[in-house]
Amino acid sequence: MFEPTDLFERGVGDATDIVQKEMYTFEDHGGDSLTLRPEGTAGVCRAYIEHGLHNQPQPVRMYYTGPYFRYERPQAGRFRQLRQFGIEAIGDGSPNVDVEVIELGWSYIRSLNITGTTLRVNSIGDSECRPAYLDALREYYRGHIDEVCDDDRQRLERAPLRLLDCKKTQCQRIGDAAPKSTDFLCDDCEAHWISVIVLLDGLKDTYPDLVYSIDHRLVRGLDYYTRTVFEIEPERTAGQSTLLGGGRYDGLIEEIGGVPTPGIGFALGLDRIISEVKSQKGFVPPEIGPDVVIVHLGDEARLRASALAAGLRDDGIKVLVAPAGRSMRAQMRYSNSMNARYALIIGDRELESGEGSLRPLQDDGDQSEVPLTVEVIAKALRGG
Ligand SMILES: [Zn+2]
Ligand SMILES: [Zn+2]
Repeated sequence: MFEPTDLFERGVGDATDIVQKEMYTFEDHGGDSLTLRPEGTAGVCRAYIEHGLHNQPQPVRMYYTGPYFRYERPQAGRFRQLRQFGIEAIGDGSPNVDVEVIELGWSYIRSLNITGTTLRVNSIGDSECRPAYLDALREYYRGHIDEVCDDDRQRLERAPLRLLDCKKTQCQRIGDAAPKSTDFLCDDCEAHWISVIVLLDGLKDTYPDLVYSIDHRLVRGLDYYTRTVFEIEPERTAGQSTLLGGGRYDGLIEEIGGVPTPGIGFALGLDRIISEVKSQKGFVPPEIGPDVVIVHLGDEARLRASALAAGLRDDGIKVLVAPAGRSMRAQMRYSNSMNARYALIIGDRELESGEGSLRPLQDDGDQSEVPLTVEVIAKALRGG
């Protein structure tokens, strides 16, 4: 949940908004500076080094989920304690992994029936080719210094990439005409980038609606990114509201003390995803009810119901016993409201004959009589 502050300063970058403005940082009793994690990748990479995961077959594919903390202005779908889900694939630098990660993100969004999304991709190069690009960017922006916002003027020299994703209207126009990182890629980054694009086109067989655009203003707000970066967002919000974003971070593990190891991943804010799902009304969570509710009449039946329920649960069947002391009708109503597949009815008559009545609740199938033993009831519920 928290890490040494230094991990984020070195990993995420001390010129980024996250590190400068959004971290909850405090000293512990020993005087060490700790920070509530504002994002997941730096901590995963720290764990990768600490636990020797480079000894496992590469790439190591991981996921994480949990609370993250950012001191941001609270707004719709944005909280200072947020829930993130993310994946990382560490130890393989090939473009196939880039596209595997993008594919997983796209299919996840699709699985929630969120539609009208677009994918934006870019390559921001690596430590070899980026310095020349940053120089070109600084030079370009110096020529427009009076047209950009105050924030941009202040961060131009130390963090020129940040100017590209400034959300202010006057800055976006300047950013649109700025030099493009893809024009500055070295040979290796260029080859990687072309492969990513070819592989992305191959995804269209599976996802005909996969629309992607190359956006040279997409740089992501963290320093550790290299080469491929991407975001998925609702089309209507045009760059204002990312659902899922990620990219490659081939220099991060070395930066925080490991041997050079490539990595790529994405993260998404679950709160943002949930509000998008609600606004689109596309996803209906499956209602998972018990396999059976045991409806019982009389004291003896109540005792028998509890014993049967224990046996069925031990056999892997999901069972509820209807609340005691209610009429048969009320217990049936309860079974229906629990969304159960079956009701098993036990009354005096059933106890006498040794057979209960199994009544399907989800379809019009016939009620059947079953011997009151765990084995037979379990078999009947499993459809055999
Ligand atoms: Zn600006
Ligand atoms: Zn390069």
